[in-house]
Amino acid sequence: MNFRPPQVGYWRKPMATSLPLVFDPPRRAMPPRHFADLDEDSRSTAVADLGLPAFRGKQLANQYYGRLIADPQQMTDLPAAVREQVADALFPRLLDAVREIECDAGETRKMLWRAVDGTTFESVLMRYPDRNTVCISSQAGCGMACPFCATGQGGLNRNLSTAEILEQVRAAAVELRDRDHGRLSNIVFMGMGEPLANYNRVLGAVRRTVAAPPNGFGISARSVTVSTVGLAPAIRKLADERLNVTLALSLHAPDDELRDTLVPVNNRWNVSEALDAARYYADVTGRRVSIEYALIRDINDQPWRADLLGKRLHGALGPLAHVNVIPLNPTPGSEWDASPKAAEREFVRRVRARGVSCTVRDTRGREIAAACGQLAAEG
Ligand code: SAH
Repeated sequence: MNFRPPQVGYWRKPMATSLPLVFDPPRRAMPPRHFADLDEDSRSTAVADLGLPAFRGKQLANQYYGRLIADPQQMTDLPAAVREQVADALFPRLLDAVREIECDAGETRKMLWRAVDGTTFESVLMRYPDRNTVCISSQAGCGMACPFCATGQGGLNRNLSTAEILEQVRAAAVELRDRDHGRLSNIVFMGMGEPLANYNRVLGAVRRTVAAPPNGFGISARSVTVSTVGLAPAIRKLADERLNVTLALSLHAPDDELRDTLVPVNNRWNVSEALDAARYYADVTGRRVSIEYALIRDINDQPWRADLLGKRLHGALGPLAHVNVIPLNPTPGSEWDASPKAAEREFVRRVRARGVSCTVRDTRGREIAAACGQLAAEG
């Protein structure tokens, strides 16, 4: 059994004294400012700074969020004479598609993006009969070091800007529209990175994802899922924003002993603290919380752990919990594997027996390394 605990000390000591050391990525330059980074107020200022009348701001927003156009040369309601100036000041090209691969007969597509500084990251578009979901990245790499996740092995490169996050959403919406596949309906922050460790930029992206056009893409808040390792104070803060997006908590173990190694940030905010924050989220928003549980053979799939999971969730969240069991997706170099189907069925049965709703998540994209935990953005 290849059970390699991550650098646990990495969390224990610095966390107590200097949180920012752990959460701040290496100081890398962020990309140039983009229209999608701006809220309504800064948009008005930026437009005024260009010497343009205020109504141009709304026009630009209509083009970007409503018509999904990011190249001012294609904004036909903008006078040709100002297009270049607007492009230079507000619409730098942020992402280049380096590679696109698909599987599941084209229903799952993974995009590898390269930012202006060469940073790479991925997003995955999944088409289902009843919805279209894009799984987006909030950081290039990830600093959370969960040992079963490919992204976690490479460490954190840098935070993505709000516009870099929104450009992934826009690209997915364009792709669906241009191929006659309908509208983008769901966004999940389950790509690379820990969204709540890039809080302000992610929040800006969420706000403009759910805002009605022309101020945003107009995607329903309940169809936006923010997934976190369990940064308890940030979960509470997100609840207080009243955006009412769906929260997913990556629990993966009901006991601190195991969770300390599977999700190292548990050394800072343990199972009880993460569940208390999830309960707060559910109470404030009235939304059910998704509890993510990657089922790993002989690591966290024991019947007693299923019982304990059911018991703790029933106590902490009652009907406000829904467990998503994710069969572990293999990652390079790890000997860990998914649980056998019989063990998986028994696990689900036991969680349900405690009165907690529980289903197994359909995994997509395994063969193109696009499934949960497989994104590594190797160019
Ligand atoms: N950092 C956030 C979001 C990114 S990961 C978080 O941890 O929630 C999205 C989900 O995929 C998380 O629940 C994560 O634990 C899970 N995951 C990571 N690696 C996986 C793997 N190898 N197999 C299955 N799920 C995995």
